[in-house]
Amino acid sequence: MFRCPKCSQRCSTGAERCPGCNANVRLLARLEELPDAWFNSALAAMRRGDAAKAQSLLNAVVSVRPADPEAWLLLGQAACQRRQWDAAAECWLLVRQFCPNDARPTKALAHLAVLRESPVTTDMSPATPESTEG
Ligand SMILES: [Zn+2]
Repeated sequence: MFRCPKCSQRCSTGAERCPGCNANVRLLARLEELPDAWFNSALAAMRRGDAAKAQSLLNAVVSVRPADPEAWLLLGQAACQRRQWDAAAECWLLVRQFCPNDARPTKALAHLAVLRESPVTTDMSPATPESTEG
C-alpha cells in the first residue's frame, strides 16, 4: 500500500494506475516491492552462508522499513552468525519491542546468551534441548 504522489489516493500494492486520478504509479509500485526483493535475497544469502551479504541487504530493508520485525529478526541471525553478539542482541531487543507477544526474539536472545559463553564453534544449534514450557 502506498499513496499516489499526485492526489494522495491510496494505491494497492502492485497497482499500475492510481484509482483516484489514473496516474501511472507503476514505478512507485515497483519501488514498494524493492524491500521485499531485498529481504528475499537476504534469505537466499543466509541459506548459502553469506551472512555479510544478508546483513547489507537487511540494513537496506530496515532503513526503508524501520519497524519490520521479520527483517530485524533475520538481521539478528546474520549478526549472530558473524559472532557480532551485541548487534544481534540489539536487533532482537527491537523485535521484542515491536512484537511483545512474539516468542522468537526471546528464544533467540536466550540462545545468544549460550553462544556468548561457548568457545568458538561453527555449530549454530542450541547446546541443550529446549524445554516445552513457556
Ligand atoms: Zn492519484
